[in-house]
Amino acid sequence: METIQNYIGGQYVASQSSRFAPVYNPATGKQVRQVVLSSSEEVEKAVAAADSAFPAWAKTSPLKRARVMFKFKVLLEQNSEELAKLISQEHGKVYSDALGELTRGLEVVEFACGIPHLQKGEHSANVGTGVDSHSLMQPLGVCAGITPFNFPAMVPMWMFPIAIATGNTFVLKPSEKDPSFAIKLAELLQQAGLPDGVFNVVNGDKEAVDVLLTDSRIQAVSFVGSTPIAEYIYATASAHGKRCQALGGAKNHCIMMPDAELDMAANAIMGAAFGAAGERCMALSVAVAVGDEIADDLVAALQTRIAEMRVGPGVVEGRENDMGPVITAQHKASICDYIKSGVDQGATLLVDGRELVVDDYEDGFFVGPTLFDGVTPDMTIYEEEIFGPVLAVVRVPDYQTALTLINRHQYGNGTAIFTRDGETARQFSEDVQVGMVGINVPIPVPMAFHSFGGWKRSVFGPLNVHGNDGVRFYTRMKTVTSRWPASVRLEHHASSFTMPTM
Ligand code: NAD
Repeated sequence: METIQNYIGGQYVASQSSRFAPVYNPATGKQVRQVVLSSSEEVEKAVAAADSAFPAWAKTSPLKRARVMFKFKVLLEQNSEELAKLISQEHGKVYSDALGELTRGLEVVEFACGIPHLQKGEHSANVGTGVDSHSLMQPLGVCAGITPFNFPAMVPMWMFPIAIATGNTFVLKPSEKDPSFAIKLAELLQQAGLPDGVFNVVNGDKEAVDVLLTDSRIQAVSFVGSTPIAEYIYATASAHGKRCQALGGAKNHCIMMPDAELDMAANAIMGAAFGAAGERCMALSVAVAVGDEIADDLVAALQTRIAEMRVGPGVVEGRENDMGPVITAQHKASICDYIKSGVDQGATLLVDGRELVVDDYEDGFFVGPTLFDGVTPDMTIYEEEIFGPVLAVVRVPDYQTALTLINRHQYGNGTAIFTRDGETARQFSEDVQVGMVGINVPIPVPMAFHSFGGWKRSVFGPLNVHGNDGVRFYTRMKTVTSRWPASVRLEHHASSFTMPTM
Protein backbone atom coordinates (compact mmCIF):
# COMPACT_ATOMS: atom_id res chain seq x y z
CA MET A 1 0.00 0.00 0.00
CA GLU A 2 1.27 3.49 -0.94
CA THR A 3 2.36 5.56 2.05
CA ILE A 4 2.14 9.35 1.93
CA GLN A 5 5.36 10.67 3.44
CA ASN A 6 6.70 14.10 4.30
CA TYR A 7 8.28 16.66 1.99
CA ILE A 8 11.08 18.54 3.71
CA GLY A 9 13.87 20.74 2.33
CA GLY A 10 12.92 20.02 -1.29
CA GLN A 11 12.74 16.23 -1.06
CA TYR A 12 10.57 13.35 0.04
CA VAL A 13 11.61 12.16 3.45
CA ALA A 14 10.57 8.70 4.56
CA SER A 15 9.26 8.89 8.09
CA GLN A 16 10.65 6.66 10.83
CA SER A 17 7.30 6.80 12.64
CA SER A 18 5.42 3.57 13.18
CA ARG A 19 2.10 5.39 13.35
CA PHE A 20 -0.10 5.62 10.25
CA ALA A 21 -3.66 6.71 9.41
CA PRO A 22 -5.79 5.17 6.65
CA VAL A 23 -6.78 7.25 3.61
CA TYR A 24 -10.03 6.13 1.94
CA ASN A 25 -11.76 6.57 -1.35
CA PRO A 26 -15.06 7.60 0.27
CA ALA A 27 -17.07 6.58 -2.82
CA THR A 28 -15.98 2.94 -2.60
CA GLY A 29 -15.35 2.87 1.15
CA LYS A 30 -11.99 1.19 0.44
CA GLN A 31 -8.66 2.26 1.88
CA VAL A 32 -6.45 3.50 -0.98
CA ARG A 33 -3.36 4.74 0.85
CA GLN A 34 -1.98 5.33 4.29
CA VAL A 35 -0.41 8.47 5.63
CA VAL A 36 2.41 8.69 8.10
CA LEU A 37 1.72 10.34 11.47
CA SER A 38 5.04 12.10 12.07
CA SER A 39 6.87 12.23 15.36
CA SER A 40 7.80 15.55 17.02
CA GLU A 41 11.45 15.12 15.93
CA GLU A 42 10.40 14.82 12.29
CA VAL A 43 8.34 18.00 12.49
CA GLU A 44 11.28 19.76 14.12
CA LYS A 45 13.38 18.79 11.07
CA ALA A 46 10.83 20.45 8.79
CA VAL A 47 10.88 23.58 10.95
CA ALA A 48 14.71 23.57 10.81
CA ALA A 49 14.64 23.31 6.99
CA ALA A 50 12.21 26.24 6.77
CA ASP A 51 14.27 28.22 9.26
CA SER A 52 17.50 27.83 7.31
CA ALA A 53 15.79 28.70 4.00
CA PHE A 54 14.32 31.91 5.46
CA PRO A 55 17.23 34.42 5.36
CA ALA A 56 17.94 34.00 1.64
CA TRP A 57 14.25 33.86 0.66
CA ALA A 58 13.41 36.95 2.73
CA LYS A 59 16.17 38.87 0.87
CA THR A 60 14.98 37.67 -2.55
CA SER A 61 13.39 40.50 -4.51
CA PRO A 62 9.58 40.53 -4.34
CA LEU A 63 9.59 40.52 -8.15
CA LYS A 64 11.47 37.21 -8.20
CA ARG A 65 9.18 35.76 -5.55
CA ALA A 66 6.18 36.84 -7.64
CA ARG A 67 7.66 35.16 -10.72
CA VAL A 68 7.66 31.83 -8.89
CA MET A 69 3.97 32.41 -8.19
CA PHE A 70 3.29 33.17 -11.87
CA LYS A 71 4.94 29.87 -12.87
CA PHE A 72 3.12 28.00 -10.11
CA LYS A 73 -0.22 29.37 -11.38
CA VAL A 74 0.52 28.10 -14.92
CA LEU A 75 1.47 24.65 -13.56
CA LEU A 76 -1.77 24.47 -11.56
CA GLU A 77 -3.73 25.28 -14.70
CA GLN A 78 -1.83 22.76 -16.83
CA ASN A 79 -2.39 19.99 -14.27
CA SER A 80 -5.91 20.96 -13.22
CA GLU A 81 -7.64 17.81 -14.52
CA GLU A 82 -5.32 15.45 -12.66
CA LEU A 83 -5.41 17.62 -9.53
CA ALA A 84 -9.20 17.83 -9.47
CA LYS A 85 -9.44 14.04 -9.87
CA LEU A 86 -7.10 13.58 -6.91
CA ILE A 87 -9.25 15.89 -4.76
CA SER A 88 -12.34 14.03 -5.84
CA GLN A 89 -10.81 10.62 -5.16
CA GLU A 90 -9.71 11.34 -1.56
CA HIS A 91 -12.39 13.84 -0.51
CA GLY A 92 -15.36 12.46 -2.45
CA LYS A 93 -16.71 15.73 -3.88
CA VAL A 94 -17.80 15.68 -7.51
CA TYR A 95 -15.25 16.53 -10.20
CA SER A 96 -16.81 19.89 -11.22
CA ASP A 97 -16.84 20.98 -7.56
CA ALA A 98 -13.20 19.89 -7.14
CA LEU A 99 -12.29 22.02 -10.17
CA GLY A 100 -14.17 24.92 -8.57
CA GLU A 101 -12.22 24.50 -5.34
CA LEU A 102 -8.96 24.47 -7.29
CA THR A 103 -9.96 27.68 -9.08
CA ARG A 104 -10.76 29.47 -5.82
CA GLY A 105 -7.30 28.49 -4.52
CA LEU A 106 -5.65 29.53 -7.76
CA GLU A 107 -7.20 32.98 -7.41
CA VAL A 108 -5.17 33.50 -4.22
CA VAL A 109 -2.03 32.56 -6.18
CA GLU A 110 -3.03 35.22 -8.74
CA PHE A 111 -3.45 37.73 -5.90
CA ALA A 112 0.01 36.77 -4.56
CA CYS A 113 1.50 37.48 -8.02
CA GLY A 114 0.88 41.15 -7.22
CA ILE A 115 3.05 41.08 -4.11
CA PRO A 116 5.58 43.72 -5.31
CA HIS A 117 2.70 46.18 -5.24
CA LEU A 118 1.00 44.82 -2.11
CA GLN A 119 4.19 44.82 -0.04
CA LYS A 120 5.38 48.31 -1.01
CA GLY A 121 4.79 49.74 2.43
CA GLU A 122 4.12 53.42 3.01
CA HIS A 123 6.07 56.63 2.60
CA SER A 124 5.51 60.19 3.80
CA ALA A 125 7.84 62.98 2.80
CA ASN A 126 8.47 65.95 5.09
CA VAL A 127 6.82 64.65 8.23
CA GLY A 128 9.06 67.27 9.87
CA THR A 129 11.46 69.77 8.38
CA GLY A 130 13.83 67.67 6.28
CA VAL A 131 12.47 64.50 7.86
CA ASP A 132 10.87 61.61 5.94
CA SER A 133 9.10 58.52 7.20
CA HIS A 134 8.64 55.14 5.52
CA SER A 135 7.24 51.80 6.58
CA LEU A 136 8.64 48.44 5.53
CA MET A 137 6.44 45.34 5.48
CA GLN A 138 8.92 42.63 6.39
CA PRO A 139 8.33 38.88 6.48
CA LEU A 140 8.03 37.16 9.85
CA GLY A 141 10.09 33.97 9.44
CA VAL A 142 8.73 30.42 9.53
CA CYS A 143 4.93 30.24 9.29
CA ALA A 144 2.76 27.15 9.79
CA GLY A 145 -0.56 26.12 8.25
CA ILE A 146 -2.86 23.45 9.71
CA THR A 147 -5.75 22.62 7.41
CA PRO A 148 -9.05 20.67 7.38
CA PHE A 149 -10.19 17.80 5.16
CA ASN A 150 -12.99 19.59 3.38
CA PHE A 151 -10.88 21.79 1.08
CA PRO A 152 -7.56 19.98 0.61
CA ALA A 153 -6.56 22.43 -2.16
CA MET A 154 -8.29 25.74 -1.50
CA VAL A 155 -7.64 26.16 2.23
CA PRO A 156 -3.85 25.58 2.08
CA MET A 157 -3.87 27.99 -0.88
CA TRP A 158 -5.61 30.63 1.28
CA MET A 159 -2.39 30.63 3.29
CA PHE A 160 0.96 29.71 1.76
CA PRO A 161 0.88 31.72 -1.53
CA ILE A 162 0.71 34.97 0.45
CA ALA A 163 3.06 33.75 3.19
CA ILE A 164 5.70 32.72 0.64
CA ALA A 165 5.22 35.67 -1.70
CA THR A 166 5.82 38.07 1.21
CA GLY A 167 9.15 36.33 1.94
CA ASN A 168 8.30 33.82 4.68
CA THR A 169 8.96 30.10 4.65
CA PHE A 170 6.18 27.62 5.38
CA VAL A 171 5.40 24.28 7.00
CA LEU A 172 2.01 22.81 6.02
CA LYS A 173 0.30 20.12 8.10
CA PRO A 174 -2.64 18.99 5.94
CA SER A 175 -5.60 16.91 7.08
CA GLU A 176 -4.66 13.27 7.56
CA LYS A 177 -7.94 12.32 5.82
CA ASP A 178 -6.93 13.59 2.34
CA PRO A 179 -3.19 14.36 2.47
CA SER A 180 -2.05 13.62 -1.12
CA PHE A 181 -2.85 17.03 -2.58
CA ALA A 182 -0.39 18.82 -0.27
CA ILE A 183 2.49 16.74 -1.63
CA LYS A 184 1.42 17.64 -5.20
CA LEU A 185 1.57 21.30 -4.21
CA ALA A 186 5.14 20.84 -2.99
CA GLU A 187 6.14 19.16 -6.27
CA LEU A 188 4.59 21.93 -8.40
CA LEU A 189 6.18 24.68 -6.30
CA GLN A 190 9.57 23.06 -6.80
CA GLN A 191 8.95 22.87 -10.56
CA ALA A 192 8.03 26.58 -10.46
CA GLY A 193 11.51 27.32 -9.12
CA LEU A 194 10.84 27.71 -5.39
CA PRO A 195 14.10 27.16 -3.47
CA ASP A 196 14.33 24.05 -1.29
CA GLY A 197 13.05 24.46 2.25
CA VAL A 198 10.73 27.39 1.53
CA PHE A 199 7.66 25.11 1.46
CA ASN A 200 7.54 21.89 3.48
CA VAL A 201 4.80 19.36 4.20
CA VAL A 202 4.58 17.31 7.37
CA ASN A 203 1.84 14.76 7.82
CA GLY A 204 0.47 13.90 11.21
CA ASP A 205 -1.99 14.49 13.99
CA LYS A 206 -1.94 16.31 17.35
CA GLU A 207 1.68 15.31 18.02
CA ALA A 208 2.83 17.09 14.85
CA VAL A 209 0.53 20.08 15.40
CA ASP A 210 1.77 20.62 18.95
CA VAL A 211 5.33 21.17 17.68
CA LEU A 212 4.07 23.84 15.29
CA LEU A 213 2.26 25.58 18.15
CA THR A 214 5.19 25.61 20.57
CA ASP A 215 8.49 25.65 18.61
CA SER A 216 10.13 29.05 19.12
CA ARG A 217 11.22 29.21 15.45
CA ILE A 218 7.59 29.35 14.27
CA GLN A 219 6.39 32.96 14.09
CA ALA A 220 2.80 32.60 12.90
CA VAL A 221 0.13 29.89 12.77
CA SER A 222 -2.83 29.80 10.38
CA PHE A 223 -5.50 27.24 11.19
CA VAL A 224 -8.80 26.24 9.60
CA GLY A 225 -10.94 23.48 11.11
CA SER A 226 -13.55 22.81 13.77
CA THR A 227 -14.22 25.30 16.57
CA PRO A 228 -12.97 23.27 19.57
CA ILE A 229 -9.62 22.68 17.82
CA ALA A 230 -9.48 26.31 16.58
CA GLU A 231 -9.84 27.49 20.19
CA TYR A 232 -7.07 25.15 21.32
CA ILE A 233 -4.78 26.27 18.47
CA TYR A 234 -5.41 29.96 19.16
CA ALA A 235 -4.88 29.65 22.91
CA THR A 236 -1.72 27.51 22.62
CA ALA A 237 -0.06 29.41 19.77
CA SER A 238 -0.80 32.77 21.43
CA ALA A 239 0.54 31.54 24.76
CA HIS A 240 3.77 30.73 22.93
CA GLY A 241 4.06 34.25 21.53
CA LYS A 242 2.93 33.51 17.99
CA ARG A 243 0.62 35.40 15.72
CA CYS A 244 -2.45 33.25 15.11
CA GLN A 245 -5.51 33.24 12.90
CA ALA A 246 -7.80 30.26 13.64
CA LEU A 247 -10.99 29.80 11.63
CA GLY A 248 -13.60 27.47 13.09
CA GLY A 249 -16.98 25.90 12.38
CA ALA A 250 -20.27 27.34 11.22
CA LYS A 251 -24.04 27.08 11.10
CA ASN A 252 -25.01 29.29 8.20
CA HIS A 253 -28.60 30.56 8.03
CA CYS A 254 -30.43 32.08 5.11
CA ILE A 255 -33.60 34.12 5.42
CA MET A 256 -36.36 33.44 2.91
CA MET A 257 -38.51 36.59 2.78
CA PRO A 258 -42.12 36.37 1.53
CA ASP A 259 -41.21 38.43 -1.55
CA ALA A 260 -38.24 36.23 -2.57
CA GLU A 261 -38.07 34.85 -6.11
CA LEU A 262 -38.97 31.26 -5.23
CA ASP A 263 -37.31 29.28 -8.04
CA MET A 264 -34.07 31.25 -7.91
CA ALA A 265 -33.88 30.96 -4.11
CA ALA A 266 -34.78 27.25 -4.05
CA ASN A 267 -32.10 26.46 -6.66
CA ALA A 268 -29.53 28.51 -4.73
CA ILE A 269 -30.40 26.86 -1.41
CA MET A 270 -30.15 23.37 -2.96
CA GLY A 271 -26.58 23.94 -4.15
CA ALA A 272 -25.53 25.65 -0.92
CA ALA A 273 -27.04 23.01 1.37
CA PHE A 274 -26.12 19.84 -0.50
CA GLY A 275 -23.08 20.76 -2.63
CA ALA A 276 -19.97 18.89 -1.41
CA ALA A 277 -22.42 16.83 0.73
CA GLY A 278 -22.78 19.82 3.07
CA GLU A 279 -19.10 19.55 4.02
CA ARG A 280 -18.40 23.25 3.47
CA CYS A 281 -17.86 25.84 6.18
CA MET A 282 -20.09 28.12 4.08
CA ALA A 283 -22.81 25.48 3.49
CA LEU A 284 -26.33 26.76 4.19
CA SER A 285 -27.71 24.40 6.80
CA VAL A 286 -30.64 26.47 8.12
CA ALA A 287 -33.34 28.11 5.99
CA VAL A 288 -35.41 30.56 8.03
CA ALA A 289 -38.73 31.11 6.27
CA VAL A 290 -40.69 34.25 7.16
CA GLY A 291 -44.37 33.28 7.21
CA ASP A 292 -46.05 29.93 6.58
CA GLU A 293 -46.97 30.68 2.99
CA ILE A 294 -43.40 31.07 1.73
CA ALA A 295 -42.29 28.23 4.06
CA ASP A 296 -44.80 25.84 2.43
CA ASP A 297 -43.76 26.92 -1.06
CA LEU A 298 -40.06 26.60 -0.25
CA VAL A 299 -40.41 23.15 1.30
CA ALA A 300 -42.40 21.91 -1.72
CA ALA A 301 -39.83 23.36 -4.15
CA LEU A 302 -36.95 21.76 -2.23
CA GLN A 303 -38.65 18.35 -2.09
CA THR A 304 -39.17 18.37 -5.86
CA ARG A 305 -35.55 19.26 -6.46
CA ILE A 306 -34.18 16.74 -3.95
CA ALA A 307 -36.07 13.98 -5.76
CA GLU A 308 -34.13 14.88 -8.92
CA MET A 309 -30.68 14.96 -7.31
CA ARG A 310 -28.03 12.54 -8.56
CA VAL A 311 -25.93 11.16 -5.73
CA GLY A 312 -22.89 9.02 -6.51
CA PRO A 313 -19.13 8.96 -6.89
CA GLY A 314 -17.32 12.19 -7.70
CA VAL A 315 -15.67 10.86 -10.84
CA VAL A 316 -17.39 8.21 -12.91
CA GLU A 317 -17.49 7.53 -16.65
CA GLY A 318 -20.53 8.81 -18.50
CA ARG A 319 -22.30 10.41 -15.54
CA GLU A 320 -22.10 13.74 -13.77
CA ASN A 321 -23.38 13.54 -10.20
CA ASP A 322 -24.58 16.46 -8.06
CA MET A 323 -23.33 15.17 -4.73
CA GLY A 324 -20.73 12.65 -3.58
CA PRO A 325 -20.16 10.75 -0.34
CA VAL A 326 -19.05 12.15 3.02
CA ILE A 327 -15.47 11.76 4.17
CA THR A 328 -15.45 8.67 6.44
CA ALA A 329 -17.68 5.94 7.85
CA GLN A 330 -17.43 7.62 11.29
CA HIS A 331 -18.57 10.94 9.86
CA LYS A 332 -21.49 9.22 8.14
CA ALA A 333 -22.47 7.65 11.49
CA SER A 334 -22.28 11.06 13.21
CA ILE A 335 -24.55 12.65 10.57
CA CYS A 336 -27.04 9.78 10.92
CA ASP A 337 -27.02 10.28 14.72
CA TYR A 338 -27.87 13.94 14.23
CA ILE A 339 -30.77 12.99 11.93
CA LYS A 340 -32.05 10.60 14.60
CA SER A 341 -31.79 13.32 17.25
CA GLY A 342 -33.84 15.67 15.05
CA VAL A 343 -36.60 13.07 14.83
CA ASP A 344 -36.40 12.32 18.57
CA GLN A 345 -36.61 16.01 19.45
CA GLY A 346 -39.76 16.54 17.35
CA ALA A 347 -38.67 17.99 13.99
CA THR A 348 -40.56 16.81 10.90
CA LEU A 349 -38.28 14.66 8.72
CA LEU A 350 -39.50 15.22 5.15
CA VAL A 351 -36.62 13.56 3.29
CA ASP A 352 -34.43 10.98 5.03
CA GLY A 353 -30.97 10.40 3.51
CA ARG A 354 -29.93 7.64 5.90
CA GLU A 355 -31.06 4.68 3.86
CA LEU A 356 -29.56 5.78 0.54
CA VAL A 357 -27.63 3.03 -1.27
CA VAL A 358 -25.75 3.87 -4.49
CA ASP A 359 -25.69 0.99 -7.00
CA ASP A 360 -22.19 -0.49 -7.45
CA TYR A 361 -20.96 1.66 -4.54
CA GLU A 362 -22.77 -0.08 -1.70
CA ASP A 363 -19.82 0.33 0.71
CA GLY A 364 -19.35 4.06 -0.03
CA PHE A 365 -19.90 6.62 2.74
CA PHE A 366 -23.08 8.04 1.22
CA VAL A 367 -25.77 9.99 3.03
CA GLY A 368 -28.60 11.27 0.84
CA PRO A 369 -29.92 14.84 0.96
CA THR A 370 -32.01 15.23 4.10
CA LEU A 371 -34.71 17.83 4.78
CA PHE A 372 -36.29 18.76 8.11
CA ASP A 373 -39.23 21.12 8.60
CA GLY A 374 -40.46 22.57 11.89
CA VAL A 375 -37.00 22.84 13.42
CA THR A 376 -36.80 24.99 16.58
CA PRO A 377 -33.79 26.72 18.17
CA ASP A 378 -33.66 24.36 21.16
CA MET A 379 -32.96 21.30 18.97
CA THR A 380 -29.46 19.84 18.66
CA ILE A 381 -29.74 19.83 14.84
CA TYR A 382 -30.24 23.61 15.04
CA GLU A 383 -27.55 24.39 17.61
CA GLU A 384 -24.67 22.27 16.35
CA GLU A 385 -22.73 22.05 13.11
CA ILE A 386 -23.64 18.72 11.44
CA PHE A 387 -21.30 19.15 8.43
CA GLY A 388 -23.40 16.90 6.22
CA PRO A 389 -26.23 17.12 3.68
CA VAL A 390 -28.91 18.05 6.21
CA LEU A 391 -31.06 21.16 5.75
CA ALA A 392 -33.25 22.46 8.58
CA VAL A 393 -36.24 24.71 7.82
CA VAL A 394 -37.21 27.02 10.69
CA ARG A 395 -40.51 28.90 10.47
CA VAL A 396 -40.76 32.41 11.97
CA PRO A 397 -43.52 35.04 11.85
CA ASP A 398 -41.43 38.06 10.82
CA TYR A 399 -38.07 39.42 9.66
CA GLN A 400 -37.04 40.67 13.12
CA THR A 401 -37.42 37.17 14.63
CA ALA A 402 -35.32 35.73 11.79
CA LEU A 403 -32.58 38.30 12.34
CA THR A 404 -32.57 37.74 16.12
CA LEU A 405 -32.18 33.98 15.59
CA ILE A 406 -29.08 34.48 13.45
CA ASN A 407 -27.58 37.04 15.81
CA ARG A 408 -28.08 34.79 18.83
CA HIS A 409 -26.41 31.76 17.26
CA GLN A 410 -22.96 30.84 18.55
CA TYR A 411 -21.50 30.81 15.01
CA GLY A 412 -21.29 33.73 12.58
CA ASN A 413 -19.49 32.57 9.45
CA GLY A 414 -21.79 33.20 6.48
CA THR A 415 -25.42 34.11 5.86
CA ALA A 416 -27.76 35.07 3.03
CA ILE A 417 -31.10 36.76 2.51
CA PHE A 418 -33.44 36.11 -0.39
CA THR A 419 -35.65 39.11 -1.09
CA ARG A 420 -36.64 41.57 -3.82
CA ASP A 421 -36.69 44.45 -1.35
CA GLY A 422 -33.56 46.60 -1.35
CA GLU A 423 -34.31 48.25 1.97
CA THR A 424 -34.68 44.92 3.82
CA ALA A 425 -31.49 43.65 2.21
CA ARG A 426 -29.57 46.78 3.16
CA GLN A 427 -30.86 46.70 6.73
CA PHE A 428 -29.94 43.01 6.98
CA SER A 429 -26.35 43.58 5.86
CA GLU A 430 -26.05 46.40 8.43
CA ASP A 431 -27.54 44.53 11.40
CA VAL A 432 -26.59 40.88 11.01
CA GLN A 433 -23.74 39.69 13.23
CA VAL A 434 -22.03 37.47 10.69
CA GLY A 435 -18.76 37.94 8.80
CA MET A 436 -19.84 37.19 5.22
CA VAL A 437 -23.25 38.22 3.89
CA GLY A 438 -25.01 37.30 0.65
CA ILE A 439 -27.90 39.26 -0.87
CA ASN A 440 -29.63 36.72 -3.12
CA VAL A 441 -26.21 35.00 -3.19
CA PRO A 442 -26.22 31.73 -1.24
CA ILE A 443 -22.49 31.23 -0.58
CA PRO A 444 -20.90 34.67 -0.28
CA VAL A 445 -17.24 33.57 -0.25
CA PRO A 446 -15.18 36.75 -0.77
CA MET A 447 -12.79 36.84 -3.71
CA ALA A 448 -9.04 36.45 -3.14
CA PHE A 449 -8.47 40.23 -3.14
CA HIS A 450 -10.96 40.62 -0.27
CA SER A 451 -10.56 38.77 3.02
CA PHE A 452 -12.41 35.67 4.24
CA GLY A 453 -13.51 35.18 7.84
CA GLY A 454 -16.50 34.91 10.14
CA TRP A 455 -17.55 36.39 13.48
CA LYS A 456 -18.24 34.97 16.93
CA ARG A 457 -17.15 31.34 17.48
CA SER A 458 -16.33 30.94 13.77
CA VAL A 459 -13.01 32.74 14.12
CA PHE A 460 -10.29 33.40 16.68
CA GLY A 461 -7.77 36.15 15.98
CA PRO A 462 -8.10 39.65 14.52
CA LEU A 463 -6.92 39.15 10.93
CA ASN A 464 -8.83 37.14 8.32
CA VAL A 465 -7.31 35.09 5.51
CA HIS A 466 -6.17 36.39 2.08
CA GLY A 467 -6.75 39.88 0.69
CA ASN A 468 -5.20 42.78 2.58
CA ASP A 469 -5.63 40.98 5.93
CA GLY A 470 -3.54 38.09 4.61
CA VAL A 471 -0.72 40.42 3.61
CA ARG A 472 -0.86 42.12 7.03
CA PHE A 473 -0.92 38.76 8.82
CA TYR A 474 2.28 37.51 7.16
CA THR A 475 4.27 40.75 7.47
CA ARG A 476 5.31 43.08 10.24
CA MET A 477 5.64 46.81 9.92
CA LYS A 478 8.84 48.61 10.60
CA THR A 479 8.65 52.39 10.39
CA VAL A 480 11.81 54.35 9.67
CA THR A 481 12.05 58.07 10.38
CA SER A 482 15.08 59.65 8.71
CA ARG A 483 16.91 62.94 8.43
CA TRP A 484 19.98 63.30 6.20
CA PRO A 485 23.19 65.20 7.06
CA ALA A 486 22.74 67.96 4.47
CA SER A 487 19.72 69.15 6.37
CA VAL A 488 21.35 68.88 9.77
CA ARG A 489 21.74 72.36 11.13
CA LEU A 490 22.82 73.10 14.62
CA GLU A 491 19.35 74.01 15.87
CA HIS A 492 18.10 70.55 14.78
CA HIS A 493 21.02 68.86 16.41
CA ALA A 494 20.45 69.98 19.98
CA SER A 495 19.19 67.42 22.47
CA SER A 496 15.49 67.50 23.14
CA PHE A 497 13.86 66.01 26.21
CA THR A 498 10.25 66.42 25.22
CA MET A 499 8.13 64.04 23.16
CA PRO A 500 8.97 64.74 19.48
CA THR A 501 6.05 66.36 17.66
CA MET A 502 7.84 67.19 14.38
P1 NAD B 1 -10.65 19.30 12.47
O1 NAD B 1 -10.71 20.42 13.45
O2 NAD B 1 -10.97 17.94 12.94
O3 NAD B 1 -9.16 19.19 11.85
C1 NAD B 1 -8.50 20.32 11.30
C2 NAD B 1 -7.00 20.12 11.44
O4 NAD B 1 -6.66 20.06 12.83
C3 NAD B 1 -6.47 18.83 10.81
O5 NAD B 1 -5.25 19.09 10.18
C4 NAD B 1 -6.29 17.91 12.01
O6 NAD B 1 -5.26 16.97 11.82
C5 NAD B 1 -5.94 18.86 13.14
N1 NAD B 1 -6.38 18.38 14.45
C6 NAD B 1 -7.46 17.61 14.72
N2 NAD B 1 -7.55 17.37 16.04
C7 NAD B 1 -6.50 18.00 16.62
C8 NAD B 1 -6.05 18.13 17.98
N3 NAD B 1 -6.70 17.56 18.99
N4 NAD B 1 -4.95 18.85 18.20
C9 NAD B 1 -4.29 19.45 17.19
N5 NAD B 1 -4.66 19.35 15.90
C10 NAD B 1 -5.76 18.65 15.61
O7 NAD B 1 -11.56 19.72 11.24
P2 NAD B 1 -11.99 18.85 9.97
O8 NAD B 1 -12.97 17.82 10.39
O9 NAD B 1 -10.79 18.42 9.20
O10 NAD B 1 -12.73 19.97 9.10
C11 NAD B 1 -14.06 20.32 9.25
C12 NAD B 1 -14.24 21.55 10.11
O11 NAD B 1 -13.52 22.65 9.55
C13 NAD B 1 -15.68 22.03 10.18
O12 NAD B 1 -15.98 22.41 11.49
C14 NAD B 1 -15.71 23.23 9.24
O13 NAD B 1 -16.72 24.18 9.52
C15 NAD B 1 -14.37 23.79 9.48
N6 NAD B 1 -13.94 24.66 8.39
C16 NAD B 1 -13.98 26.00 8.61
C17 NAD B 1 -13.64 26.87 7.60
C18 NAD B 1 -13.69 28.34 7.81
O14 NAD B 1 -13.23 29.05 6.94
N7 NAD B 1 -14.18 28.85 8.92
C19 NAD B 1 -13.24 26.36 6.36
C20 NAD B 1 -13.19 24.97 6.17
C21 NAD B 1 -13.54 24.14 7.21
